[in-house]
Amino acid sequence: MNSLSLLLLAHLKDLPVYQPGRPIEEVARQYGLDPDRIVKLASNENPLGPSPRAREALQKALETVHLYPDGHAFALRQRLAAKLGVTPEHLIFGNGSNELLEFIGHVLLEPGVDVVVSQYCFAVYPLVTRMFGANLVTVPARNHAHDLAAMRAAITPRTRVVFLANPNNPTGTWAPAAELRAFVESIPPTVLVVLDEAYIEFLEDPPDFLPDLRTGARPNLLLLRTFSKIYGLAGLRVGYGIGVPALIAALEKVRQPFNLNRLAQVAALAALDDEEHVQRTRRNNRQGLEQLQAGCRELGLPYIPSAANFLLVRVGDGATVFEALQRQGVIVRPMGAYDLPEWIRISVGTPEENARCLEALRKVLRNGSAATTRD
Ligand SMILES: *Cc1c(COP(=O)(O)O)cnc(C)c1O
Repeated sequence: MNSLSLLLLAHLKDLPVYQPGRPIEEVARQYGLDPDRIVKLASNENPLGPSPRAREALQKALETVHLYPDGHAFALRQRLAAKLGVTPEHLIFGNGSNELLEFIGHVLLEPGVDVVVSQYCFAVYPLVTRMFGANLVTVPARNHAHDLAAMRAAITPRTRVVFLANPNNPTGTWAPAAELRAFVESIPPTVLVVLDEAYIEFLEDPPDFLPDLRTGARPNLLLLRTFSKIYGLAGLRVGYGIGVPALIAALEKVRQPFNLNRLAQVAALAALDDEEHVQRTRRNNRQGLEQLQAGCRELGLPYIPSAANFLLVRVGDGATVFEALQRQGVIVRPMGAYDLPEWIRISVGTPEENARCLEALRKVLRNGSAATTRD
């Protein structure tokens, strides 16, 4: 019986808890598997691991973890600003870019205001919206991609924020640069456009909004990026936002002083200069996407062409296939929470990991009633 008598906020009552990809150790325990034999392709992590330069920098930094981090992340901020060609005041760091999403809520969202997102958007946007009691306006997707015209049309005087990821997670779809630019330019100045570029480094021909931020031409645009994906530092939690200094100053007010820990700062700084690791990751991803897509065609499984480091695949009963794959030691992501119950999302792994995943899929699908059978 629940004896809690606290007057918890009513708008949080039906808010679900975010379901992350399942950790290897947890799946190993549940199915009695050897953790070393489990392949995790569930959270779009870098299958090549962290940058070797970051590893080396981390070893050294271990000696100083008794000291608080630099609350302003001076070294990382300077280096990143130089690399992007912006001023240090154009940048804000978060404990993952997920934390930055929460900062946005703190400065712009309250009951009575609207947030516009697309169907099949990143799950954290609706969570943050509802966490602050704001109203979520979900615009139907077109062919699983953002319908930018419809999103524009959904903006009203009540709208405070529009969130969109390009490429999008979990669909892997992307918007042509010219269309995206026209969309951003059409948004009223009272509405913040949050352009989440977590996977931007995987795009062949990425849109470039940095000039707009350098000149100050787009004060209502915030770009979000992360060290979790191509840089391979998901476990350390480093994300950043790029916006005009006035917007960044507003967001800084709600940031906790030491949100970016020492190891995170040191590793991100080292990873930033490891262009070789980034290139290797991009190459592995391109080939891995080819491999997974070819494998799906062979298995007769429809998929959404992806510009990111994962593939959305239609398998029938997604939850059942997810479960059966786990028994085979392969963790993918079920998509029920995204209202895509027939689909699973597979992160691109190493060639061997991709092959294991496809082989497990083949077995699971051949067994028809999939989940109920072992092996
Ligand atoms: C993975 C991901 C992020 C990054 O999250 P971190 O908190 O930086 O690890 C942000 N947005 C989207 C759409 C993502 O898929």
